[in-house]
Amino acid sequence: MTTSDVINPATEELLRTVEQTDLAGVDDAVARAKVAQRDWARRAPAERAATLRDFAAVVDAHVDELAALEVANSGHPIGNAQWEAGHVRDVLQFYSASPERLSGKQIPVAGGLDVTFNEPLGVVGVITPWNFPMTIASWGFAPALAAGNAVLVKPAEWTPLTTIRLGELAVEAGVPADLFAVLPGKGSVVGERFVTHPDVRKIVFTGSTEVGTRVMAGAATQVKRVTLELGGKSANIVFDDCDLEKAAATAPYSVFDNAGQDCCARSRILVQRTVYDRFMELLEPAVKGVVVGDPTDKATEMGPLVSKAHWETVAAYVPDDAPVAFRGDAPSGPGFWFPATVLTPPRTDRTVTDEIFGPVVTVLPFDDEADAISLANDTPYGLSGSIWTDNMSRGLRVSRAVESGNLSVNSHSSVRYNTPFGGFKQSGLGRELGPDAPLSFTETKNVFIAIGDA
Ligand code: NAD
Repeated sequence: MTTSDVINPATEELLRTVEQTDLAGVDDAVARAKVAQRDWARRAPAERAATLRDFAAVVDAHVDELAALEVANSGHPIGNAQWEAGHVRDVLQFYSASPERLSGKQIPVAGGLDVTFNEPLGVVGVITPWNFPMTIASWGFAPALAAGNAVLVKPAEWTPLTTIRLGELAVEAGVPADLFAVLPGKGSVVGERFVTHPDVRKIVFTGSTEVGTRVMAGAATQVKRVTLELGGKSANIVFDDCDLEKAAATAPYSVFDNAGQDCCARSRILVQRTVYDRFMELLEPAVKGVVVGDPTDKATEMGPLVSKAHWETVAAYVPDDAPVAFRGDAPSGPGFWFPATVLTPPRTDRTVTDEIFGPVVTVLPFDDEADAISLANDTPYGLSGSIWTDNMSRGLRVSRAVESGNLSVNSHSSVRYNTPFGGFKQSGLGRELGPDAPLSFTETKNVFIAIGDA
C-alpha cells in the first residue's frame, strides 16, 4: 500500500500520512457501490430524503471540526473554512428535498398514457481539486445521491482530509458505507480508473482544463457522461460611471480570496482609461489592507498557498523585472506565503492570459464598452466575472455579451447552492448546483402504455 504525506501549508509540518487507494481497491469499491445503489434507488423517496437530512444534521454538528481540519490541511482562513463546512450542510439540505420532487412528466399523446421517469445513472465518480475540497465534493455527491445514485469521491492528493471526514460522517448519519465512499489516491490511478471502469456511469471532474480535456476524451470511448468544472481567467470590468470607491475596495477580495486559488478569481481587472489612475490610487490601500497571516486567527483574510510546488509555479509569474504596481505583505518564516501582487503588463503578457491560481492580479486599461467586452472575451476560459457600472442598461448589455457562466453586476458573488454554476468555453461542460443539478445525474426514460378499447 502506498501512502502520501499531507502537509500543513502554514507551518510546513506533517499532518498525516494517508493510504492511497490502488486499482484493486477502486474496482472493489465500484462493485460494492453498484450493489448498494440498487438498494438505495429502491428505497422510498421520503426515506432517501430523510437520510440526506440526517447527513446534513451530522455535518452541522461537526462544522467547527471540519473547518479546523481545512485550516490545517489547506491553509484556509478559519472564517472561510467555517463558511465552507456550513455550505456543505446547506447543499445537503437543499438536495434532500429532491428525492420527493423528481417527478417526471405526463405527456399528452394519442392511444395511451405517456410518462417520463428520471432514472438514476448508477455509480458516479467525483474527482475534486485541492482548492475547495469539501464544498466542491458536496456539489457532486449531494445531488447525485439525491437522484438515487451511488457516489465514489477521489479527493486531490494534497487536501484529502475533510473529504475523508465527510465520508465518516455520512456513515454516522446512516448513509450506507458502500453507497458513498471516499477513495484517496493518485489521479493517474483512482481518477483514471473512474474514467475507464465501465460501471462508473458518470464523472464529475473539477480541476484544470488540461486534465479535464483528458477525462472527457477518455469518457468518450464509453459515451460516459461528464460534468466538467475547469479553469478560469475572469474579468472584473470597471466602467467610469460606477461607484469607484466600492469597486476598488472590493476588487482585492474578488481575486485574493483563498490566496487567489479560486477558479472564479477575477484575476484581470479591466478599468476604463478615464478613471484608471484614480482607480489605482484607491486600489493600493485596499490591497495593502488585506490581512494576511495565521489562518487560525479569526481576523485573517488570506492564508498561504497550498504547497511548495504550487508556490514555485505562482512565483515564476513574478520575476524580479515583473511590472509590479504594488504588493501587500506576507509573513516570513515557515509556510508557503505569497504577497498579494498587482501587475500592469501589456495585454499579450502571459500573466494576462494564463490562470496563475495565486494572489496575482493584472490591471489593464480599456477605451470603451466594445473594447471592454472584446478584452473580457479574449480568453479560452469563461467561468465568472464582474461588471461595475451605475448604468443598468450597460450592466445588462455587458452581462449578455461576456461569454461566461456566472456574472455579477456591482458585486462579486458567484456561488450559491440554489443557483446554477459552471463555465462557458474551456471553463467547463454542464452545470452544478441550482434546482436542476439532480437531473444531470439521471437519464430520462419515456414509457408509453397503450390504452385498449373498452
Ligand atoms: P488538477 O487538474 O491537477 O487535478 C484535479 C483532480 O484531478 C485531482 O484530484 C487529481 O488527482 C485528478 N487527476 C489528475 N490526473 C488525472 C487523470 N489523468 N485522470 C483523472 N483524474 C486526474 O487540478 P488542481 O490543480 O487540483 O486544481 C486546480 C484547477 O482546478 C484550476 O485550474 C482551477 O481553476 C480548477 N477549478 C475549477 C473549478 C470550477 O468549478 N470550474 C473549481 C475549483 C478549481
